[in-house]
Amino acid sequence: MKCKNCVAGLFGVCYERDYCQTEQSALVELARRMAGERGHQLGEFVKQEGLSVWRSACSLCGQPVYVDVNPAPDEPDLYGDVLVTDCPQGEPTPAEEQPEPLPASLEEVFKS
Ligand SMILES: [Zn+2]
Repeated sequence: MKCKNCVAGLFGVCYERDYCQTEQSALVELARRMAGERGHQLGEFVKQEGLSVWRSACSLCGQPVYVDVNPAPDEPDLYGDVLVTDCPQGEPTPAEEQPEPLPASLEEVFKS
């Protein structure tokens, strides 16, 4: 399993690795941040045997997240439920929701 063509690979830094550590830790950081914004708390990332994929899960709700340092061209390098759903157990980030203003035409209808 070769990592993508990064500069480190050209200089042989990845020689004895099957993945690019710099890229992997950057993706893990990103995953933690994105999951955190939805209230999740990610545990340890565990490498999946034979894959360029690390898996982690929210310690509160158990929903998974995956990081792939060598995805296929049409695959994401970061995916999982914690990135798209709010944690049901976590601290919800207060949403700054403004009530939708009524369109002018509708207000006129209500006035009449
Ligand atoms: Zn969660």
